[in-house]
Amino acid sequence: MKKIAGYVKTTYHSIVNRLLPSSFYPTRSFNLNEVSMDDLIRRAANDLAAAGNVVALTGAGISTESGIPPFRGKGGLWEKFDPMEIAHIDALMRDPAKVWNILVKEMKEIVDTATPNDGHKGLAKLEKIGKLKTVITQNIDGLHQAAGNTDVIEFHGNFAWQRCMDCSRKYETRKVEVAEIPPRCGCGGILRPDAVFFGEMIPQDAMWRSRQAASDCDLMLVVGTSAVVQPAALMPVYAKETGAKIIEINPERTPLTAEISDYLIMGKAGEVMNQIIQTLEQKI
Ligand code: NAD
Ligand code: ZN
Repeated sequence: MKKIAGYVKTTYHSIVNRLLPSSFYPTRSFNLNEVSMDDLIRRAANDLAAAGNVVALTGAGISTESGIPPFRGKGGLWEKFDPMEIAHIDALMRDPAKVWNILVKEMKEIVDTATPNDGHKGLAKLEKIGKLKTVITQNIDGLHQAAGNTDVIEFHGNFAWQRCMDCSRKYETRKVEVAEIPPRCGCGGILRPDAVFFGEMIPQDAMWRSRQAASDCDLMLVVGTSAVVQPAALMPVYAKETGAKIIEINPERTPLTAEISDYLIMGKAGEVMNQIIQTLEQKI
């Protein structure tokens, strides 16, 4: 097992507020522009074949091909409203009906019917062939479990359940009636998603398990995350610090691309995963 260098001594607060200085990492030895997509797919398949402990960190982007809009990026909810404001715990406490109307109701309609796409299925396949151990997901849509991954750390909780803000009783989201907004518990309290809003703590177990998984892996696939939401975006940093390779799959560059990722495969998660798995299957 690899050791969590340095960070054990670092306070939580300083961890979530910084990335490592750029001087920490050696400059990459190749120019992304000179490498073809086919080369990158082959390289990822080789890296996966050679790796002993692979972990994936996923974000909203992996679920866009299932029809769930991301926050940022093209077609993101950001184009309609500021998620940092409406998905913030202060907004929920101040005006739950507004948050239900703008965010939760729409999310419920979409998540109730969404099914896994090739990106989720690809990660499930990687687990099945013994090439992926754990998925750390920022998503709350449950699609990794639906695809078949068995070790999924839900960093931001999940949307499958609603919780009464007064008595904490839980209700299955699928069964919650939205005729009246906000929906209420039998006790009269308001229901809220049992997920983490901006401004709330990450569930302790998810935080520590993710850090451990990130620090133990020798390859991390970072799929469909803008890598700006902390502390989730630090997981690749922990992995990198203990010597893991970082492969990003995203149609756009992120703050990780320049210094943390070994390489970025610029494309949609479903399409890229299909190609990687096809190439990997020829090797093993
Ligand atoms: P984000 O919305 O900030 O960024 C989405 C990222 O995905 C962007 O970098 C974008 O370029 C990329 N992307 C878009 N389409 C893609 C595709 N087909 N394949 C690969 N990448 C693609 O997402 P985030 O970093 O996860 O942060 C947003 C927060 O919002 C998360 O904490 C999450 O909890 C929450 N959220 C979850 C869902 C969900 O559960 N599906 C949806 C929206 C937001
Ligand atoms: Zn209640």
